[in-house]
Amino acid sequence: MEREISAGGVVVRHSADGWDLAVIEPQREPAVATGKGKRWQKLLLALPKGLVDAGEKAEQTAIREVAEETGLMAGVVVKLGDIKYVYVRSWGDQQRVFKIVSFYLLRYESGTIDRIADDMRIEVKRALWIPLAEAERKLAYKGEKDMVRRAQEYLSEHAEL
Ligand code: ATP
Repeated sequence: MEREISAGGVVVRHSADGWDLAVIEPQREPAVATGKGKRWQKLLLALPKGLVDAGEKAEQTAIREVAEETGLMAGVVVKLGDIKYVYVRSWGDQQRVFKIVSFYLLRYESGTIDRIADDMRIEVKRALWIPLAEAERKLAYKGEKDMVRRAQEYLSEHAEL
């Protein structure tokens, strides 16, 4: 089976009452037209991530993808874990792809969320801060929910952050 290796970030910053998390609303194929209107699409929230380039360390990929997809500069705190899934490529030959994504806890340093390059809009509809406490419920994918739970555990055990 085809394989893809990506890396991404759980980016947090202090807010008035706890922590915020940076998430993205990925661009998806336009909704399929059904009858008179378009089929309603549920809001899909995900973590910023992307393919690890040749010669790049997963950590560097996480930092780079976070910057490109959210507009934020952030530094790595700790690795949270890897998630795995299989998907079928919707384009071309409908290949099944086995994917591994390494996630890191990153701490916000600078930048404005959603101030991203125009050509990134092909991938990202928008980037936004949400309360970390709501993230497990709001994220679309099980594996990403797990990473958020690990981040919450880590933060609660490291009050110095
Ligand atoms: P990348 O962001 O790594 O460059 P991509 O945008 O090309 O990758 P994915 O985000 O892996 O591709 O999405 C490919 C398919 O897998 C989509 O149908 C998406 O809905 C699904 N998918 C994405 N993330 C997950 C996940 N954590 N668990 C299960 N399915 C997922």
